[in-house]
Amino acid sequence: MSRGIDFLIQHYDIRSPDGYKYLIHFMEDTFLHNLREHEKVRKIAHKIRTGLEKINPFVEASTALICPSCKHVCCIRKHGFYNLEDLIYMFALNKKLPEPFFGGNENDTCQFLTGNGCTIERQFRPSGCNWYFCDSLLEHMETFAEYQDFDNEIAEIAGLWLNMVEEFSRNINLPPE
Ligand code: SF4
Ligand code: SF4
Repeated sequence: MSRGIDFLIQHYDIRSPDGYKYLIHFMEDTFLHNLREHEKVRKIAHKIRTGLEKINPFVEASTALICPSCKHVCCIRKHGFYNLEDLIYMFALNKKLPEPFFGGNENDTCQFLTGNGCTIERQFRPSGCNWYFCDSLLEHMETFAEYQDFDNEIAEIAGLWLNMVEEFSRNINLPPE
């Protein structure tokens, strides 16, 4: 019976170079050697990706209007970091992760932010970026008819995300404690 990803979270600090290195190696290994076991995880990850692509135009249209005048930009280093669940998603999609940045001030501008916005396509950003909608953004979005569809889609993506993590947890072999 698998102890799931809680074990990995407790034992390996994904924000440290060594912890990150171990977890990347773990993901490479489990997705390479457990193709059949992770098939369902892959299918769910593809549905999540499709959902994120679907909401992107509506979100982008809103951020393009609201974010340029923001006084407290949320794109800071501590947010632009992939957590363990993000690693599952990215590996399930066979998608290469951007180089991580360790050290520095966590409140500094995110390394992926440029004058033209984030350099990572929305569907491949850290989940913390995709789940976060500040009040100003939400207030703006809520004024459009498309908001209800967006809200439904986000709820569906969140459910799929939970399923993906649970499914992955059931099918991994962990080292003994
Ligand atoms: S999402 Fe909100 S907090 Fe983040 S940059 Fe845009 S307006 Fe600012
Ligand atoms: S949206 Fe992009 S630029 Fe902003 S915090 Fe996330 S990764 Fe960094």
